[in-house]
Amino acid sequence: MNFSELGLSPRTLEAVTAAGYQTPTPIQAEAIPPALQRRDVMGLAQTGSGKTAAFVLPMLSLLEKGRARARMPRTLILEPTRELADQVREAFETLGKMHNLSVALLIGGVAFEPQALKIDRGADVVIATPGRLLDHFERGKLLLTGIDMLVIDEADRMLDMGFIPDIERICKLLPFTRQTLFFSATMPPEIQRLTTAFLHNPVRVEVSRPSSTAETITQMLVKAPHEAKAKRETLRQLLRTQTNVKNGIIFANRKTTVALLEKSLAVHGFSVGALHGDMDQSARLKTLAAFRANEITYLIASDVAARGLDIPEVSHVFNFDVPTHAEDYVHRIGRTGRAGREGQAFTLVTKEEGKQWKAIEALIKKEVPYFELSAEAQEAIETRAAEPDRQPRRERSGKPDRRPRRETTAQAERIEQPEQSPRSEPKPPRQERPAREPKPAREAKPARESKPAREPQDAPDNRGFTEQTMPAFLMRSVKVV
Ligand code: AMP
Repeated sequence: MNFSELGLSPRTLEAVTAAGYQTPTPIQAEAIPPALQRRDVMGLAQTGSGKTAAFVLPMLSLLEKGRARARMPRTLILEPTRELADQVREAFETLGKMHNLSVALLIGGVAFEPQALKIDRGADVVIATPGRLLDHFERGKLLLTGIDMLVIDEADRMLDMGFIPDIERICKLLPFTRQTLFFSATMPPEIQRLTTAFLHNPVRVEVSRPSSTAETITQMLVKAPHEAKAKRETLRQLLRTQTNVKNGIIFANRKTTVALLEKSLAVHGFSVGALHGDMDQSARLKTLAAFRANEITYLIASDVAARGLDIPEVSHVFNFDVPTHAEDYVHRIGRTGRAGREGQAFTLVTKEEGKQWKAIEALIKKEVPYFELSAEAQEAIETRAAEPDRQPRRERSGKPDRRPRRETTAQAERIEQPEQSPRSEPKPPRQERPAREPKPAREAKPARESKPAREPQDAPDNRGFTEQTMPAFLMRSVKVV
C-alpha cells in the first residue's frame, strides 16, 4: 500500500513526502479512504499506531476547499490532555506545511485572550481540551455551528478523566450533519454508548493492541531488594553498567516514587528530569523538550504521565517497579527498539513483585533472563540495605503500603483538568461539569492537612450561653397547652 493510493490531495501527498513517511501505517491505510469519502470512522488504535496522521491527513485534504470565518471554526479536534493537544498541533505544523491553515490551540493553563483572538480571526482547525473549549463557548467567543468535521481522540482516556459529559454536550452543540472521526484504544461500554449516540453508520477500523514485544528489544531482569533505599542503589548500580545509553526512560508506578527518584539520581550525579501528575504544565513541557533535545539523559516517568507522549528514539527503558498491569510493560518497553532499532529494557524485580512479573511473562510469552550485577555492585547494595534509614516511615516499614499502588489516571492527570478561569475574568458557573471530576490525589496531601486545626488547650470554652450571656427571649417561659 502506498500513500498515493489513499485518495489524498496532491498537496497533502507532498507534505507526506516532506515528512519522510513512506508507507501508511495500518490505521492510516484503513481510516483515510473512508474519511475522505466523508464517512464517520470509529478507530480502535493507540498512540504509536500513526493515528494522528490518520485524521490530520484527510482533514488537510478536505480543508483545501472553503475558508474559515470569524469565530466559526471549520474543524474541531478534541484531546484529553494539553500535551496531546500540543502534539496534534505539532503534527499540523509538520504535515500542514503546504496548506497555510489557521490552527487554534484551546487548552487550559494558558491565557484566554490570545486563544479568543485566534478564533476571532477565523480558525480552520481548533484543537482543544473539552473544558477550555466549553469555556470559550460559554463566553460567547466561539460558534460551533460551522464545524464540518469532528475528531474525538483518545476517547477512553476522556472517560478516565471524567470528560464524557463535556463530550456529549459538545457533540450536541455541533451540526448534526458533521463528519465524526472517533479514536479510542479500548471500547468499554460507556464509549460504545457514545459511538452509538454520536456516530452515523461508522466504518470500524481496528489495529490490534500489541501483546508481544519487538524482537529488537533486549529484555533483562535485575533482582532487587524490596527496601526502597537499597532498591534505588540497585538502579544506580545498573545505570552505571550501561555505557551505551543515549537516552533512557525510567518508569515507576507511583508519582511519589518518580519525584523521589529524580532527587536521588540528581544527587548522585545523573542527568535526570521527571514527568509526573503533580508537576505544572510548563514544567512538564520544559522537561519533555529538554529530553527530546538530549539535554537530559534520563526521563523518570509514571505510566499515566508518559502515556500518549511521542518520545522518539529511546535507547533504554528501565522499570524501577514491575508495572501492575501487564500491558503497561509492553507499552513501557515499546518506547525503545522502535522502527527496527536496537533497544534495551531492564526491569527491577523484588521478591514481592514476583507474581506481577509472572503475569507479564504470561502475556508476552517469553522468559526474560536475569542480568547479573558485579560482586562490588551487590556489596554496595547490601551496604545500603544495612544502613539506618532516614526515609519517611512509610518507605521504611517494609509493610505493604495501604495507599494506591498506582496513581490513578484521575489523580495523575488532575492538573490537566480544565483550568479555572483567570480571576480577572469571572465566568458563569457551569451546570454540566463532569460528574466524575477527578478528586485531588490523597497521597499528595499530608494526612493531617485535612483535619481542622486544633484549638489551643487553654482557650475558653465558648460553646453555649452562660447565665450572664443568655438572651432574654430564651429565658421566657413557654406555655405548654
Ligand atoms: P501517533 O500514533 O500518531 O502518535 O504517531 C507516532 C509516530 O509515528 C509519530 O512520530 C509520527 O510522526 C510517526 N508516523 C506516523 N505515521 C507514519 C508513517 N506512515 N511513517 C512513518 N512514521 C509515521
